Amino acid sequence: MKVFKFGGASVKDSPSVRNMAKILSRFEGDRLCVIISAMGKTTNALEKVADAWIKSDIHAIGLLNEVEAYHLAISYELDGAGAEQIKSIVQGIRMLLQSAPPDLYDAAYDLIVSNGELMSTAIVSDFLNLSGITNQLLDVRRVLITDDSYRNARIYWQESIAKIKAAFDESNPGHFAPVTITQGFIGSSANGHPVTLGREGSDFSAAIFAYALDATQMIIWKDVPGVLNADPRYFSNTVLLDKISYRDAVELAYFGASVIHPKTIQPLQNKSIPLYVKSFEQPDENGTLIHNFDNQPLKTPCYIVKQNQVLISISATDFSFIAEDGLHTIFGLLSNLGIHINLMQNSAISFSICTDDNEDKLNRLFRALSGDFRVKYNRGLELITIRYYNKKTIDAIVNKREIYLEQKSRLTVQLVVDAAGKPAKQ
Ligand code: ADP
Ligand code: ASP
Ligand code: MG
Repeated sequence: MKVFKFGGASVKDSPSVRNMAKILSRFEGDRLCVIISAMGKTTNALEKVADAWIKSDIHAIGLLNEVEAYHLAISYELDGAGAEQIKSIVQGIRMLLQSAPPDLYDAAYDLIVSNGELMSTAIVSDFLNLSGITNQLLDVRRVLITDDSYRNARIYWQESIAKIKAAFDESNPGHFAPVTITQGFIGSSANGHPVTLGREGSDFSAAIFAYALDATQMIIWKDVPGVLNADPRYFSNTVLLDKISYRDAVELAYFGASVIHPKTIQPLQNKSIPLYVKSFEQPDENGTLIHNFDNQPLKTPCYIVKQNQVLISISATDFSFIAEDGLHTIFGLLSNLGIHINLMQNSAISFSICTDDNEDKLNRLFRALSGDFRVKYNRGLELITIRYYNKKTIDAIVNKREIYLEQKSRLTVQLVVDAAGKPAKQ
């Protein structure tokens, strides 16, 4: 069994869907499990619908109509594939919009946003069948069971693995096709509510299937030639990394290399399943292979830049040291507010964290800290991570900018610098 994942960019319009069908036809005779994301920017569009619904904004219906029109236009160009299903899914959302949303924002979000993947797979599966690639469409909500942490659902592994295996059991009379199409990013809570696994979560969905089905390989099809040593949107002269160890891949993803979702690697590593990242535009090229290469460190420095960062420095108002009890309070607040720490450091009298700049959450944090703690912060920063760094690579990327914080381990350096390029004080 091979597990494939096609992201939003690979199914963003009708030529892309046709291209995807061409890629699948190269694997005729193989058993394939194909995980698909929502088309193009559909998840963003549905987030707006959900937000409008929750805020009783009358624009919700108009925004939904745009999502429907986009899908029907693609379907029309693909011989009407999935058109009826799209209309019925959208009708279901319209009914929802006429009712009151659940009290919990995140539950309402998942009710709406989970439909993106249901729409894309309806079109793709139908189009493939029309094109002679016989496939079955599996509703992933039947097999991927989670807790009810809406928007960030945690997998119930044992239950999900058993259900996935049963759905792919060839002796099961319901199973008839070598190709199965299913949705990434979504699942069902144990009590039957739709959930999402966190933005960009389809890579992780594919890894869950690869693990459950003991896949011989997993391929993520992307709009880039493979994993590069930096994001080509921000760096020129990037280098393709042809082989990466699981360890390096998980570190790069964890630090924010958005080409692979960080949760993807561990399930694959656990069963030594090779992961390929390949271009859907040049499927003949080798791309990147991620596997057991742990004794082969990369020779190329890798760069990851997180923009829009804020560096917060917290000290106690009574001039005491920030010890375990103070950290307990701070971490409790960060966890409750869902603020993720990208980097942290403590000194005798202050504790510093670098996080994404989310004004609303940070204001709530600052309010909660006021009293016992004094807070200072700098906005408009960048967090740069270089794996396999040396002095030359640091100097080149920092480019005389002010460094607010620097943390080094043997292989990785992380630097918080001024994004606006304010030069360091001499
Ligand atoms: P998907 O269609 O699967 O959702 P994404 O847009 O999430 O694809 O991921 C692909 C994008 O990741 C690329 O277009 C590229 O801009 C970005 N990216 C970030 N870091 C890297 C990297 N190190 N190597 C390759 N691509 C990267
Ligand atoms: N469609 C979802 C998103 O845009 C999941 C994914 O693409 O991986 O976040
Ligand atoms: Mg993506």
